[in-house]
Amino acid sequence: MAKNFKSELVACFGQPVAENPTGEMQEAAFQKAGLAWRYLTIEVAPEDLEKAVNGARAMGWQGFNCTIPHKVAVIPLLDSLSREAELIGAVNTVRRDGDKFIGENTDGKGFLRGVRQDAKIDPKNKRVVLLGAGGAARAISTELLLAGVADLLVLNRTIDRGQAMVADLAAKTGGPIRFEPWLENHEIPATTDILVNATSIGLYPDVDAMPSIQLGNLPPHCLVCDAVFNPPETRLLAAARARNLPVLDGLSMLVYQGVTGFQLWTGQDPDEAAMKAALRTALDV
Ligand code: NDP
Repeated sequence: MAKNFKSELVACFGQPVAENPTGEMQEAAFQKAGLAWRYLTIEVAPEDLEKAVNGARAMGWQGFNCTIPHKVAVIPLLDSLSREAELIGAVNTVRRDGDKFIGENTDGKGFLRGVRQDAKIDPKNKRVVLLGAGGAARAISTELLLAGVADLLVLNRTIDRGQAMVADLAAKTGGPIRFEPWLENHEIPATTDILVNATSIGLYPDVDAMPSIQLGNLPPHCLVCDAVFNPPETRLLAAARARNLPVLDGLSMLVYQGVTGFQLWTGQDPDEAAMKAALRTALDV
């Protein structure tokens, strides 16, 4: 049989990027699948993004991930967007289709997959309260609306930003999304089935920070989720556990956005256990 020493390349472009652990789990999955694929974690300054994307095209890369600050800036450099990436207005994964680069967004899909697979909950017809209106909040909100939630209440500190996100997603999806200003010690309604922290509150090094909310009214089945993955056990999740509420940590979203990326790039299903183990080793958790 003819030998094939050719590598297929994917990468993460970001700045800063050194602490991004995605490459560890993708490389673990490539090895498990016996694929001669490599994932490079590369620092790219904003002014060099176009050159980096053109370089990836010239070398026939299979795609790449984009992280801060490139998720929006990369859009004009691509050939087309998936419907979800278009609704979210940001791209975290680019895949190659022939000679075209297609922008996708797997952040919200990763979150939903965790809700379904790890927490065993179908978001359809559920009532959700979501904290935040940044990039993660927008990706998660979009996928929740596409999944058919009954109600999506968004709370955000900066009112203009929260209102703008909600108005935009309501217009684009026609889904049941609404906004309320985030009050001090905001009481989360007793009708809530899923509560999501999509802010950066609790992210390392501010590990003692806790969203200003009251969990006292939550029903015993309410799933409490955190997008923050460093540390995986945030104060919010610890408070929910103390009330015997089910929880879903940010590692779940992180792993499954990577699982979805692997599927988009290779057309195969990765070894999810190997990806989770590599991520935990990389993050030392
Ligand atoms: P953005 O900077 O886009 O948004 C940050 C959000 O947090 C805004 O809504 C902001 O509110 C809010 N916020 C920050 N600090 C406070 C505070 N002290 N009080 C109230 N609100 C606050 O960040 P991202 O959306 O990109 O990321 C959010 C979190 O999600 C991060 O921790 C990130 O690591 C995590 N994430 C996790 C992923 C995963 O796979 N698990 C994937 C992507 C992100 P305001 O509008 O008022 O500023």
